[in-house]
Amino acid sequence: MHPLMRPLATFAFGASVALLLIAVLPKSPGGDDDTGNALIAAQEDGFAEGIAEEIPADLAEPPPAEDLEPESSEWHEHTVGSGEVLGKILPRYGLPTQEIWEAAKPFVDLSKLRAGKVLRIHTVPGATAPDVLEYPIDADQTLVVALQADGSWKAEVEKIEYERREGTRSFTVNRSLWEAAVGAGLRPSDIVALADVFRYDIDFNSEIRRGAKATMVVEELWTEGRLAGLGAPLAVRFENSGKEYLAIRFEGPDGPRYYDAKGQSRKGPFLRSPLKFSRVTSGFSRNRYHPILKRGRPHNGVDFGAPEGTPVYAVGDATVSWAGPNSGHGRFVKLDHAGPYDSSYSHLSRISVQKGQKVRQGQLIGYVGSTGLATGPHLHYQFWSNGKLVNPLTVPLPRGGDPIPDSMRAAFEAHKESLLARLDRLISDDALVAEVEPEVPAAEPTLPEPPR
Ligand SMILES: [Zn+2]
Repeated sequence: MHPLMRPLATFAFGASVALLLIAVLPKSPGGDDDTGNALIAAQEDGFAEGIAEEIPADLAEPPPAEDLEPESSEWHEHTVGSGEVLGKILPRYGLPTQEIWEAAKPFVDLSKLRAGKVLRIHTVPGATAPDVLEYPIDADQTLVVALQADGSWKAEVEKIEYERREGTRSFTVNRSLWEAAVGAGLRPSDIVALADVFRYDIDFNSEIRRGAKATMVVEELWTEGRLAGLGAPLAVRFENSGKEYLAIRFEGPDGPRYYDAKGQSRKGPFLRSPLKFSRVTSGFSRNRYHPILKRGRPHNGVDFGAPEGTPVYAVGDATVSWAGPNSGHGRFVKLDHAGPYDSSYSHLSRISVQKGQKVRQGQLIGYVGSTGLATGPHLHYQFWSNGKLVNPLTVPLPRGGDPIPDSMRAAFEAHKESLLARLDRLISDDALVAEVEPEVPAAEPTLPEPPR
């Protein structure tokens, strides 16, 4: 076994974590004195008051639209059950399925209802049937389908207006990044946003160590006196394995971007990983036992365990040089990047690109599957430099984002200083905060929706 891969393999066999749970490798074997005590350190702005329990897990539920509601009306809420379809729900309330589906179609396909979403159905007392159906599209938008005077149904999308405030959060990783972040009140989409800030620097699938610490200033979205969710991180300091990473969000010449302390854009030509969240189940090795071929054979890539249908993203801008079957690799995509680099993605269940097509960094190229020689759904990811297979988790990758233009330098420095002051204050406050047993159970991340 490649010495580098030992901790990863230990983790893969020893940890009984759910798929997609972000792994934390202990700093030293056996050093788990404080396991189970996640530090909840974000106390500012009245945060640690069970907010996570009041808010639905996927940020999907819209705030109640009480201002639209006359005294004499009634709203009924229906939570979509798993496997429940529109044609089963609406007739029960006396609503016409076909007409509502057609009216909604330009905005959202209601034949693909997501379980857990809450439909709101409005009826004027005394009326024989409801006159409004509401469906939460996402955190910011609600679909409203309303009965018109002529008996037809009309759909529109209402934007939810939030009051934006600045808040702070911090957490220290004990068992997993996911658990610690949930303990600090972040929801799955917030954690993805946090990981995205550092996706050029850290592979959140494999590189997070126990003791990693995040402190962040973050936008809070308030509506009708309650916290509805978090917006973009404004500044994040992340410490991991003795390294410190800083990201400052700043409105540069091309819109908001994350910059490092020197004012260099954090954007790089390659993402560290083609999956947002997963775990490494088999590392890069020059010789390992192949479970299907039953013999020793080099493993010239990295396997990420992830459920069938998990989206796979291009790690960098590229031209697609292969998109289709490739013997043991099953459905296979290979990308030709600028410079001496290529990357490839094996065992896909579905391919979303074509040979010769140009793709952008972060673009969806397919979905995790188990086609070809694979014992179960996973992504076999390979990376080439000058035609030679290299370990994608450790190969030094080119960096190079654009710096802040000189004309914006002073504004950036002032903005940075004020955010750094807030982060420093948060860190010194942390020293006074006792360890708290987490009250929020560690939630599993929302699984991406499989393709249909
Ligand atoms: Zn593999």
